[in-house]
Amino acid sequence: MTSVLDTPRARKTGRDPRRRLVVIGNGMAGARAVEEILARGGAEQFSITMFGDEPYGNYNRIMLSHVLSGEESDADIFLNPLAWYQDNGITLHAGVRADRIDRFAKHVFSSDGRVTPYDTLIIATGSRSHMPPMDGLHTPAGSVKPGVFGFRTIDDTRKMVSHAQQDHHRRAVVIGGGLLGLEAAYGLRSHGIDVEVVHSGNHLMSAQMGPDGGAVLRRSVQALGIGVHTGSRTTAVLGTDRVTGVSLRDKPDIACDMVVVAAGIRPNVDVAVLSGLPVERAIVVDDQLRVQDEDNIYAVGECVQHRGEVYGLVAPLWEQAVVLAKHVTGTDTGAAYLGSRTATKLKVAGVDVASMGIHGPELDTDEHIVFSEPSRGVFKSIVVRDNKMVGATLLGDSRKLAYLTQAFDRGLPLPEERHSLLFDLGTPDGDVGVAELDDHAQVCNCNGVNKKALVDVVKGGCTTLAGAMDATRAGKGCGSCKLLVQQVVEWAAGGAVEEDPAASYYVPGIPLDKPALMDEIRKRGLRSVSQVFQALAPGSTEDARSKMGLASLLKMMLGDQYIDERDARFINDRVHANIQRDGTFSVVPQMKGGVTSAQQLRRIADVAEKHNVPLIKLTGGQRIDLLGIPKEDLPQVWADLDMPSGYAYGKSFRTVKTCVGKDFCRYGTGDSTMLGIDIESRFQGLESPAKLKLAVSGCPRNCAESLVKDVGVVAVEGGRWEIYVGGAAGAHIRKGDLLATVDSPGEVTLLTGRFMQYYREHANWLERTYSFVPRVGIDHLRAVIVDNSEGIAGDLDQAMQASVDSYVDPWRERDDPQTPGQFRTSLPLTVLPQVQVR
Ligand SMILES: Cc1cc2nc3c(=O)[nH]c(=O)nc-3n(C[C@H](O)[C@H](O)[C@H](O)COP(=O)(O)OP(=O)(O)OC[C@H]3O[C@@H](n4cnc5c(N)ncnc54)[C@H](O)[C@@H]3O)c2cc1C
Ligand code: SF4
Repeated sequence: MTSVLDTPRARKTGRDPRRRLVVIGNGMAGARAVEEILARGGAEQFSITMFGDEPYGNYNRIMLSHVLSGEESDADIFLNPLAWYQDNGITLHAGVRADRIDRFAKHVFSSDGRVTPYDTLIIATGSRSHMPPMDGLHTPAGSVKPGVFGFRTIDDTRKMVSHAQQDHHRRAVVIGGGLLGLEAAYGLRSHGIDVEVVHSGNHLMSAQMGPDGGAVLRRSVQALGIGVHTGSRTTAVLGTDRVTGVSLRDKPDIACDMVVVAAGIRPNVDVAVLSGLPVERAIVVDDQLRVQDEDNIYAVGECVQHRGEVYGLVAPLWEQAVVLAKHVTGTDTGAAYLGSRTATKLKVAGVDVASMGIHGPELDTDEHIVFSEPSRGVFKSIVVRDNKMVGATLLGDSRKLAYLTQAFDRGLPLPEERHSLLFDLGTPDGDVGVAELDDHAQVCNCNGVNKKALVDVVKGGCTTLAGAMDATRAGKGCGSCKLLVQQVVEWAAGGAVEEDPAASYYVPGIPLDKPALMDEIRKRGLRSVSQVFQALAPGSTEDARSKMGLASLLKMMLGDQYIDERDARFINDRVHANIQRDGTFSVVPQMKGGVTSAQQLRRIADVAEKHNVPLIKLTGGQRIDLLGIPKEDLPQVWADLDMPSGYAYGKSFRTVKTCVGKDFCRYGTGDSTMLGIDIESRFQGLESPAKLKLAVSGCPRNCAESLVKDVGVVAVEGGRWEIYVGGAAGAHIRKGDLLATVDSPGEVTLLTGRFMQYYREHANWLERTYSFVPRVGIDHLRAVIVDNSEGIAGDLDQAMQASVDSYVDPWRERDDPQTPGQFRTSLPLTVLPQVQVR
């Protein structure tokens, strides 16, 4: 094991006069604490090093539920991508676990053999899924049985999605009917899996609500097709080497292919225990978030126990992060964290749920106001003590949430007519509630945004809802607070909230929709991304988020007239390979129509051997993927392969999957392989707003899965071909719509090109065809593309031909790098487990 000691001598020699701040845990609390520290001038005071045992930047864990259900892509939930750390001068050891702290020498020992000294240390190690003891959870070798999942990390979520998407997996059991369990059940249901929830409590979400609310929630959950077993315990996971079912204590076994354990969380305290820090239920901290009896060690988030409480929601950790930052930076040494009153507002399994304080009366004198309408899934209950609200549950209708949160947080006197707490009957309406909200009242729990932050943005001149959301991140988490965010923005703007024009911009940095943007580019003869910014961006300011979209649009419009600027490309497009989780790349040689030769196979095998390629994998698009290639080796790998790229990486036309077709298959009526090869040859490398995956099948048995492709072609009786558009079988599943039935392969190629050109010209940036086709409507597409109702068919064909003609094989750059650093490694590499190949 190597040992790298970043010695105190280095500091004494005056190289960096700043104190060393080390943070263990790069989750929501750790990263937020660092953000708060930076906001208080921390970058001048500290050189910051972070350890996170997940190999990523910091992401919004709350959004994992949306990733599981396919409503959100995992790429979109990052709060701080790797570039953020670089931009802020933070050294991030991603994928590295801190194992132990030497509190006396002030060193952190980590799994990569590094010894990192600190002056101030923050522990933010969060929690992990709790796996309750039950038989059969593990294999004899000691690992968790294949098919059993926790629900805590992005990796857990990805694995669940891929397991759920395998055809033969049909049934899941979720253990735990709390917030996480219901989210998991809802997410799996979206993949068409039959789900049963087993909950040991007598009603769902028993920690957040009473039995009556639980009963209404149960109806809403069952209405989604999810089975519910309350008052029931799982005693064993069945199956020898994979899951086949679960046993319950008092009910018959349930057969299933996967088990999700969402039976609570346990704080990650191993590092603290091993290092001799005080740990009870979690790491014990004082009101300054300082670990008890330590001068230089702080802790924050779910790994913390403060005044006996351990929290499992984000709102408390935002409050903790502020107090911690004030102390660490010395900006307010009197700041104290006194604990949080947890009000939960969530969207659980698509149902609005809000809960605060107690769920039912505890004293004889407590008033309990209840409204229940199970058929609509609505339940509201409020507990009042001494004319103050001490608890509330809202299910299915959260319109009174702002007012009730306020009443709960500040102990406001309540109206005599208690029913007005539940309904708007003339007493405190939404506006009054918002006006009365305290400046520091949390509006968005997911991202820790208070009322003042939103009001400040509006006062600073932003009067659109989307603008205020962008500037503060409010409403960009689970989305359950959007109504409240809107109310606050409207109130702050005096009712003058404007329609957000940015919603229609093609890219965020240029205030034009796509047709207007294309018009300006043509009129002004703009040919590069920087020229577009210069001419059309406010103040000619370049916007990093807009570059890729603009580069793709210009390339589509101008073909070989486009002036390529490397910094306008995403890393994949700069090196023509697909960046992987660990910072290496995967190289996919072209195999048109999935057809290869002995010679190609031999060459690929030789290259794999020569470059010690750790994994060779057949892709879903019928190609061979060489995974784990370091960036600096890419030119040599390409040179050795001497095959063109299979375009597995870009927002572009990618591949045409084909079936065997009529030459070899007994059923085939059309030569699908040949047609697939022709289409792939013609459109290779073509830029588009999002990736395009195609398929051709030789008969309606559809072995190439043509009905779920961006463009799918199926040979039918009489030598004819059906063309389907807008299909998908990834995170979203959609059967394509029939565009046309034609008589010859030539017509297929023509209409395919025409459809793709129309899509390229009219789709929003990153809009896949499965969204574009239903948005525009298949009837309209058929009229324009097949019947030429707008008289533009010829223009579309011509534009497509120009793009085809301007094709240049990008792999040629291996011999002549476009920039000195094009193939120099720049990303930290993470050691990933090797896939065993038997
Ligand atoms: C699916 C899901 C949905 C949720 N929904 C909601 C919701 O709707 N509302 C809400 O308020 N809360 C919700 N939560 C809870 C919320 O995500 C947590 O409260 C929050 O993430 C806690 O932040 P943390 O930083 O303390 O822990 P984490 O975010 O878990 O971060 C801790 C990090 O430290 C790393 N780590 C641990 N030990 C080490 C070590 N020794 N060395 C290096 N790194 C280490 C961990 O791998 C992890 O990346 C949800 C959680 C999940 C999993
Ligand atoms: S789709 Fe038809 S032609 Fe193609 S392989 Fe399947 S059965 Fe054969």
